[in-house]
Amino acid sequence: MSAASEKNAAIGRAEQILYKTYNRFPVIFDHGKGVHLYDTEGNEYLDFGAGIAVVGLGYGDPEYTAALEVQAGKLLHISNLFYNQPAIDAGEKLLKAAQMDRVFFTNSGTEAIEGALKIAKRYAYNRDGHGGHEIIAMKHSFHGRSLGALSVTGNDHYQEPFAPLLPGIRFAQFNDLDSVKALVNEKTCAVILETIQGEGGIYPAEKGFLQGVRELCDEHDMLLILDEIQCGMGRSGDMFAWQGYGVKPDVMTVAKALGNGVPIGAFLACGAAATAMVPGDHGTTYGGNPFVCAAAAKVLEIFENRDIVDHVRRIGGYLWDRLEELKGRHDCIADHRGKGLIQGLEFHGPVSGIVRKALLEQQLVLISAGANIIRFVPPLVITEEDVDVMIEKLEKVL
Ligand SMILES: *Cc1c(COP(=O)(O)O)cnc(C)c1O
Repeated sequence: MSAASEKNAAIGRAEQILYKTYNRFPVIFDHGKGVHLYDTEGNEYLDFGAGIAVVGLGYGDPEYTAALEVQAGKLLHISNLFYNQPAIDAGEKLLKAAQMDRVFFTNSGTEAIEGALKIAKRYAYNRDGHGGHEIIAMKHSFHGRSLGALSVTGNDHYQEPFAPLLPGIRFAQFNDLDSVKALVNEKTCAVILETIQGEGGIYPAEKGFLQGVRELCDEHDMLLILDEIQCGMGRSGDMFAWQGYGVKPDVMTVAKALGNGVPIGAFLACGAAATAMVPGDHGTTYGGNPFVCAAAAKVLEIFENRDIVDHVRRIGGYLWDRLEELKGRHDCIADHRGKGLIQGLEFHGPVSGIVRKALLEQQLVLISAGANIIRFVPPLVITEEDVDVMIEKLEKVL
């Protein structure tokens, strides 16, 4: 059988067995190197999606891979009934980068959100001696697919089939402080938002908005939860996007690039939020196991040693300029937003055709964020040359 017919047969089998919650592109990726992916037919693709903002260090980084190999040979899992050294190392590095007090490791971003919501509820319960509190979230947000995370995801289309969800969630308009103020009452215990909205279409929070929400939270003793799952870990040009605003959350969630492909997330807390939950309140079997924490510890070490954040700042500026030029040349582009290596181009119509054509004809991996928006979330280690190649390929498609 030719490679192409083998691929088609494999895709046929996949369509028989995998639960159909995705419309996948007809490509089977086999391996990656740096910022390139290779399919089973030997084609090379330039990757500007990084597995949805996950593979920050690119594919097959030798130092990262060696750390996984060493840990795989020593100990994968032991449960949280015991201590393990990689979790201590990863936790210390992460807390130092965030200047926060406590960390809990999870298996995904969604689970980090679940933990953050539980902190908010527990914090208010400790204070008031009863439950029944409310949380303010944002329209067009995305926080994950489990029932708690879905409850704070401001997307009717995602929510409707699974109602009723968590009670007491109210939705404000992102970047509209008055709309948040209007929802605050004596029951409100937290405000949750993405510092830069990702899935909703790459909308950075405005400085005045974020500062205003912080002040509002302080005034009413509510926790500020910032979801940095997509925009964190250097992607915005700061280690965590809020650091570029001078606004510090009480609770932060991270995941995606934290493990560089190994499934790990975390919620971090500071001040009184860091001690709100007590033994018995929360747990996980896999979360923070030695294997995933060895990966995260190595990622954080590489971030420091190679000054990844500084690189993102520089290359993000270059990407910004090139996309601005592109926008100037093409009337089909309606808007350009973002920061660092999380940028988006909004078109006047749906982009699924552009994304598909880029992939299949130009061997360029692009992903969308909503119907009309292409999202640029490449590996953080891309070079100016990679940006130039991407622009050239994208321009052919446009
Ligand atoms: C991806 C994402 C999540 C969910 O993370 P999973 O690892 O898919 O569970 C939550 N919040 C934001 C902002 C995300 O981008």
